[in-house]
Amino acid sequence: MKKFTVIAIDGGAGTGKSTTANLLSNQFNFLHVDTGSHYRAITAALLDSDISPVDAAESPNLNKIKLNSDITGKKSVITINGFSYQQNILRSDKINSSVSSYASIPSIRLHLFNYQKSQVELARSNHYSGLVMEGRDIGTVILPNADLKLFLTADETIRSKRRELDGESDQISIRDHLDKTRKIAPLTQCNDSVIIDTTQLTKEEVLSHISQLVHNL
Ligand code: C5P
Repeated sequence: MKKFTVIAIDGGAGTGKSTTANLLSNQFNFLHVDTGSHYRAITAALLDSDISPVDAAESPNLNKIKLNSDITGKKSVITINGFSYQQNILRSDKINSSVSSYASIPSIRLHLFNYQKSQVELARSNHYSGLVMEGRDIGTVILPNADLKLFLTADETIRSKRRELDGESDQISIRDHLDKTRKIAPLTQCNDSVIIDTTQLTKEEVLSHISQLVHNL
C-alpha cells in the first residue's frame, strides 16, 4: 500500500458510495469527503437567499459564499460562511429535488473545484493516511490522478429501496438523468475505474473487495 493514498468513488444515487467511503475511511484512517454534501450545502444556501437556479446561472455572484472545512472524526464537513448545515436539512425533499439543477451550473462547479482539490492537502496536513472522496466527477475531473478509481452501480429498485430505508423520498432516476446528461462534468465512468455492482452485495462484501484493491496498491 502506498504511503498516502487517494481514492475516488463515483456513481449514481443510492449505489452505496457514502457507506463504502465511510467504512474505508475508518479502516484505513482516510479523510472522508462527500462532495454531494457540498452541492447540497450550496443549494441550501442559495435557496435560503431565494436565488433560483436560473438566477444563479445568469448572475453568478458566488464570491460571497466562502467555503471552509470542519473535520469531525474522519469526515471533512463543508462550512459556508462559517456555517455547517445539519444532515436533516441537506437530505430534505426540497434539497433532493433541486440539487441537480444547481449542480449543473458551471460557475457553481467552478466555485467548488479548488475547494474540493484542496481536500487532499487538508488530509495530508492533518496526518491522515489518505483521502477517499465520493461524488459524480471525482475520477474524471477533481482527482484524475487518484491511486484508485471506483465506479459503483446498482439496480434502480434496490437503490430506491435503500433511500426509503434511509427515510428519504428521493426521485433518484430523475436526479441520475440530470446528472448524466448535463453539459459540464456529467456522471460517467472513466476508462481506468473499477466498476462494482453493489446490487447483490452486502456493505461488508463491498468493503472487503475494495480493501483488497487498496492493499494491492
Ligand atoms: O451524492 P449525493 O446524492 O448527495 O449528491 C447530490 C447531488 O449533487 C447529485 O445528484 C449531483 O447533482 C450533485 N453532485 C455532483 N457532483 C458531485 C457530487 C454530487 O454534481 N461530485
